[in-house]
Amino acid sequence: PLSCGIVGLPNVGKSTLFNAITQAGAESANYPFCTIDPNVGVVEVPDPRLDKLTELVTPNRTVPTAFEFVDIAGLVAGASKGEGLGNKFLAHIREVDAIVHVVRCFQDENITHVSGKVDPLSDIQTINLELILADIDSVEKRIDRSRKNMKGGDKKYAQEVEVLERVKEALYNDMPARSIELNDEEKLLIRDLHLLTIKPVLYAANVSEAEAADASNNPYVKMVQEFAAAENAEVVPISAKVESEIAELEGEDKAMFLEELGLEESGLNRLIRAAYKLLGLYTYFTAGVQEVRAWTIRKGMKAPQAAGVIHTDFERGFIRAEVVSYDDLVAAGTMNAAKEKGQLRLEGKEYVVQDGDVMHFRFNV
Ligand code: GDP
Repeated sequence: PLSCGIVGLPNVGKSTLFNAITQAGAESANYPFCTIDPNVGVVEVPDPRLDKLTELVTPNRTVPTAFEFVDIAGLVAGASKGEGLGNKFLAHIREVDAIVHVVRCFQDENITHVSGKVDPLSDIQTINLELILADIDSVEKRIDRSRKNMKGGDKKYAQEVEVLERVKEALYNDMPARSIELNDEEKLLIRDLHLLTIKPVLYAANVSEAEAADASNNPYVKMVQEFAAAENAEVVPISAKVESEIAELEGEDKAMFLEELGLEESGLNRLIRAAYKLLGLYTYFTAGVQEVRAWTIRKGMKAPQAAGVIHTDFERGFIRAEVVSYDDLVAAGTMNAAKEKGQLRLEGKEYVVQDGDVMHFRFNV
């Protein structure tokens, strides 16, 4: 499954946030393919469309889709030179698909700040610098190797060097690799380097309990927002402490607590949705009387691959898919009504699945 790594300096609230994530935890029986590891938290993706489909179909059970958050603690200044457990943590970041960067935007005299004062921009730069230095190392090694390979006359290496030189220049200017425009072919050329700064990032601005519902007056959050806007990244203000309290509650109690706080939903839900979007994911649904369920795919996946997310047999034996879009189904009211209106389509192997498709697969076993 896809995953998001949580990074940030020590004492910014990563563990508090990660604990909220695991507390809120998904029913693991529903997600047997997820990783079992104390540093991995599985979260369910809240989706109002799933509730609506449940209303329409009244199945025996409803299962949201899920993805993983990985707690990557221990990143400190000097990590790229092996300070702390530097290299190990950088290796963990290499494995995730996107990054949630937690920054401290709360004041609390009792909680030491590693660099002496609350300064989110300097914190962000400290972490980013480590990631940039690690990438410079990877890029320079690869450039050397590809220059040698170039002598064999293979054009691919010359092209690769050209792209890497551009990446290197950005890195030397303190810019992450994600900031340079690369076409699909260029991206493919450097994909196996697994650069750290090419991964999409979002900033979780950890604010005080009092600002859980409205952090718009927090000057640190404003600074982070301005910084993030310049690199097209999103900021989710969240109070890790409040989230860890919300996560301990359920049902009525939870609803009451949220109301007291003036929150429409938990900050965790907002964070989960923002991370899902960041990963570039789509959701399709299956809607049977036994089970209504949401499934996660990457944008651009074709019907057989999407079926393979449910079970590899579905992909191998794929024949076709019956598809109706979520909007059409809801407007029609029932599957049969959608069928009568001609909105239930039969799609083949080349069909590119759209966000919100309600699918039924036919396959050979
Ligand atoms: P980590 O080192 O980044 O994992 O940070 P922790 O989650 O362990 O948090 C460090 C300290 O800050 C702990 O004592 C937390 O209780 C505290 N803390 C975390 N979030 C908040 C917050 O929103 N407000 C306040 N006042 N303290 C917080």
